[in-house]
Amino acid sequence: MDNDCLFCRIVAGEIPATVVHETETTLAFRDIDPKAPVHVLVIPKAHHPDVVALARADPAGSADLLAAAAAVAEAEGLLTDGFRLLFNTGGYAGQEVFHVHAHVLGGTSLGPMLA
Ligand code: C5P
Repeated sequence: MDNDCLFCRIVAGEIPATVVHETETTLAFRDIDPKAPVHVLVIPKAHHPDVVALARADPAGSADLLAAAAAVAEAEGLLTDGFRLLFNTGGYAGQEVFHVHAHVLGGTSLGPMLA
């Protein structure tokens, strides 16, 4: 755990979040500022700053994260109409929280990705 990391502190229960899914290695919670009717963040409980670091350090954890994102999408009813799974990575992508998180976005037509 990184005590300066917001999402580590959510994992530790020090900061509240609306948790929708949890496994031994992952946690999923609703984004505090949703950009779509469904906007859930899926994170590994272990601290990795971004998806590249996670993929390099922990392939099994990467697979766990994808499986958790798929489970969230199913539980939120997104599989029929589709959804977006997004990792902002680094400054040009606008990453704000440097604990890797997958955005699960859906519940409406999201339009072109770069609009
Ligand atoms: O990918 P990026 O780092 O930009 O996304 C961070 C996300 O974390 C934002 O969508 C923001 O609304 C969300 N957030 C949150 N709960 C917090 C702080 C940020 O859901 N306490």
